[in-house]
Amino acid sequence: MAGEARKDDVGKKLFDSRAAASLVGELRGAFASGTTRSYQWRESQLKGILRMTDDRERDIAAALRSDLGKPELESVVYEVAMLRNSCKLALKELQHWMMPEKVKTSLTTFPSSAEIVSEPLGVVLIISAWNYPYLLSLDPVVGAIAAGNAVALKPSEIAPATSALLAKLLGEYMDNSSIRVVEGAVAETTALLEQKWDKIFYTGNGRVGQIVMAAAAKHLTPVVLELGGKAPVVVDSGVNLQIACRRIIAGKWGCNNGQACVSSDYMITTKDLAPKLVDALKNELEMFYGKNPLESKDLSRIVNSNHFTRLTKLLDEDKVSNKVVYGGERDPTKLQIAPTILLDVPRDSLIMKEEIFGPLLPILTVDKLEESFDIINSGPKPLAAYIFTNDKKLKDHFVKNVSAGGLVVNDTTVHLAVHTLPFGGVGESGMGAYHGKFSFDAFSHKKAVVYRSFMGDAAIRYPPYTNGKLRLMKALLGGSILGILRAIFGRS
Ligand code: NAD
Repeated sequence: MAGEARKDDVGKKLFDSRAAASLVGELRGAFASGTTRSYQWRESQLKGILRMTDDRERDIAAALRSDLGKPELESVVYEVAMLRNSCKLALKELQHWMMPEKVKTSLTTFPSSAEIVSEPLGVVLIISAWNYPYLLSLDPVVGAIAAGNAVALKPSEIAPATSALLAKLLGEYMDNSSIRVVEGAVAETTALLEQKWDKIFYTGNGRVGQIVMAAAAKHLTPVVLELGGKAPVVVDSGVNLQIACRRIIAGKWGCNNGQACVSSDYMITTKDLAPKLVDALKNELEMFYGKNPLESKDLSRIVNSNHFTRLTKLLDEDKVSNKVVYGGERDPTKLQIAPTILLDVPRDSLIMKEEIFGPLLPILTVDKLEESFDIINSGPKPLAAYIFTNDKKLKDHFVKNVSAGGLVVNDTTVHLAVHTLPFGGVGESGMGAYHGKFSFDAFSHKKAVVYRSFMGDAAIRYPPYTNGKLRLMKALLGGSILGILRAIFGRS
């Protein structure tokens, strides 16, 4: 029934193309009214997100536990506190961010002044993923609001409790003429993607990233794609192994049980160090999660049975299943997989081809650590890459030669928490970036403005073009002060 709202099995109205077009129309009307452009509106909406997050922290943690079995500490630190920090920073800096930025002019426009004016793009669509469903939905919204846009948010259907909570809370706490939530899956997202937006900000896998980009291309809509990839962690000898392992575990199993875009996907170390490294990882894992990690309350579960099956397939591939040196236990009834380490997996195995996005950590061994750079650079560019080393030459080489969205030396994932750094991918791991001021910039158009007066109207610009004018123009372009002065005062 083209053009009509379809009904689902229980007669609930579905969100179709017509509904999507009507939503965009309403948001465009709200944006055109100018409300979202004012500092007061932006401030009030950012405060709304902060108040909502403070008031409903327990509901948020409960939704995250329902969707992912996420431990409360991880909810508080990685979703609630990170969002709060984003809001607070935006509130503190907003006036400064909104101010036009004065820039130098060139001699060719003398006398003049110039500035860059940040203007809102208009009506933006934010499509988010399931693994950090509160943060990944609202963190881009903070940037979009700070920049003065009207926003439609489509949370992930794979985290249904958080999606429902977001729809309810944004309905209560935000200005619904300019900020709306659309819940749903592929059909609803497709209906949204058919519309013309002024920016689409998508977080998720690269396959859907291609769908988003193709839909955006039809309207020449710019996109930010926050994608993933296989994040390597390289470990050198001579480092404090206990600290290195703790930091690797915290960024892998301590982040949603490995279901995080910046978690270490695989490890590279030397053949000599590998046995010691595996022992150190085992010790620390046992300290953190006990002898039976399937019972641990400190590990998130796998999000759903599709992902559980996907991960067990990676683990059970013939050439991989005999490489498990720690873990491997799983419980389909609880959707739990224990932290699992695999040593010397073949590079042509599935686990080394796909992004793992779960609690499995394959280790590759090399004779010399320098070989790791070729391994990393031979694959798609990852979202993050890590190295643990005290060797300055190796560190410098890594920073200079490994291309990834972001790098951390001697830790993992913590670059996310540095708001002065852009967060985003490169190549297959995404395009565009956000966090801190980068979020404001991601949702702003940087409008170039030149101011001139009626002084200094150089005749050299105007026909009839003479040889004298040509000579002076060349002098001007060549930066000759004498020629420029002649041009300004109109003597040719
Ligand atoms: P997902 O399944 O929740 O999908 C993301 C969004 O795309 C959802 O809102 C979903 O409704 C929508 N979607 C799914 N299929 C679609 C289709 N056919 N057409 C239109 N829309 C569709 O999340 P996911 O993709 O499983 O997320 C995991 C991936 O995201 C991993 O690759 C991970 O690395 C990446 N990720 C990246 C970041 C980052 O900040 N760079 C953060 C989290 C996850």
